[in-house]
Amino acid sequence: MHKPIDSLRKQLQQLQSQSHCLQADAAQRNIWFDHARTLSEAYLTQLQHAPGQVRPRAENLSSLPFTEHGHISERVFTQLQASLADDGLRHGSGRLFGFIPGSGMYAAALGDYLAAVTNRYTGARFAAPAAAQMERDLLDWLAAEFGYPGGARGDLTSGGSIANLTALVCAREKFNIEPADIQHQVVYLTSQAHHCIAKALHVLGLKTCVQRQIAMDDGYRMNADSLQDQIASDRQAGLQPWLIIANAGSTDIGAIDPLTDLATIANAEQLWLHVDGAYGAAFALCASGKQRLAGIQHSDSLIVDPHKGLFIPFGSGAVLVRHGNSLAEALSASGEYMADASLLAEGVDLDAHQLSLELSRHFRGLRLWLPLQLHGLAAFRAALEEKLLLARYAWERLQQMPGFSTVNEPDLSIVGFRALPPTGDAEVFNRLLLDAVQAEGEVFMTSTRLQQQFVIRLAIMALATHRDDVDLALDRLDWQRRRLLAE
Ligand SMILES: *Cc1c(COP(=O)(O)O)cnc(C)c1O
Repeated sequence: MHKPIDSLRKQLQQLQSQSHCLQADAAQRNIWFDHARTLSEAYLTQLQHAPGQVRPRAENLSSLPFTEHGHISERVFTQLQASLADDGLRHGSGRLFGFIPGSGMYAAALGDYLAAVTNRYTGARFAAPAAAQMERDLLDWLAAEFGYPGGARGDLTSGGSIANLTALVCAREKFNIEPADIQHQVVYLTSQAHHCIAKALHVLGLKTCVQRQIAMDDGYRMNADSLQDQIASDRQAGLQPWLIIANAGSTDIGAIDPLTDLATIANAEQLWLHVDGAYGAAFALCASGKQRLAGIQHSDSLIVDPHKGLFIPFGSGAVLVRHGNSLAEALSASGEYMADASLLAEGVDLDAHQLSLELSRHFRGLRLWLPLQLHGLAAFRAALEEKLLLARYAWERLQQMPGFSTVNEPDLSIVGFRALPPTGDAEVFNRLLLDAVQAEGEVFMTSTRLQQQFVIRLAIMALATHRDDVDLALDRLDWQRRRLLAE
């Protein structure tokens, strides 16, 4: 008579015992944790002396096959160590100067580990009140460092691209841009804007708005007078000026647009001023950086990438919006299954998920909260000040190196320069020079084009980069230049 239910019980028992191993017990956890610890210590030890880049291995890169019953842990962690360790760029090395170098920070890794072990959900306050408050505190602290007023709110994102997207959807909703109006809306930026801005406008359905590339001064900063003129002539032509996108440290060369002037214009013209500080805004934490970023507090929105300027691992951006309510209004949406969340949230402040493109989310605040608490702010401020000074040092040294010419006096921590060969094509020579330095593998740096010319960039952002590393980079350039000339 109880047959169906008995057979269900039997099947359930079988499935439970087959999947039981997924809930690792204490003994199992200890074994794996020891493997992970051995692996991470080995990695970090070799990283201390690692060049900026390691040549890809020639052998095939396929990892272990996925099997029904898994592999013994020694085999898995040995494979993992090989896969993680010995090819490609070495983020964390002090000799990485390409693109915008990442760093990685042990305390942040522990934060990630604990966030995942506890798996607290910080999107809604009721689900993890204290953990949600930690993330809120983090955003409030960031907002205060940038000089934003109390009503500012924001979101911890996976990076700058999503942070920019979040800010721009907010600007779009604030200006109530209807599909029929898009072609008359004008966005003002420079050729130094990061390409994720174009991507964000595209994703937001705003690709066809008018995008004005404003002229720049010789430091690649937006020319405020040209902006003012362009806005006037756009108004005259019946267009609707809407959004100014300023750089607080361009990716190319670290240029900071004149933020105070742009804020004055935005204010007078009733435009939205967004500041892309993915790379550079974190320098506001140190005294000389703060000076250079003056005016950032007057923007309507800004972004910063803790995975760049606060040296933590990839996967961390932040967006801040001056008037926090506009962020909630731009992203407001709900579903019936959220009814209990709404009831539980009644009377409390906005929840993080109401200020985010995401609903379920990584407890990513912990990877920043833990390092800030363990190390204290002063160490971060000093590291940022050091990077600014290292760029200054590199710039001074390059002035004295025969056969080189710098393209900018650095606003922040990126120095652009090129070699000047006595004869022949300078473009070809600089490409050969950079290729030679990269092939040598001691240090890694990359290039860009400015005013149709090939430029080598020294981007100083890695936590581990100190004076010796900058000297090594410049010495290798000098040596390779002489070698090429002697050929
Ligand atoms: C790195 C960068 C971005 C993109 O940020 P991701 O974190 O890589 O998505 C945007 N703007 C600037 C100025 C950047 O340097």
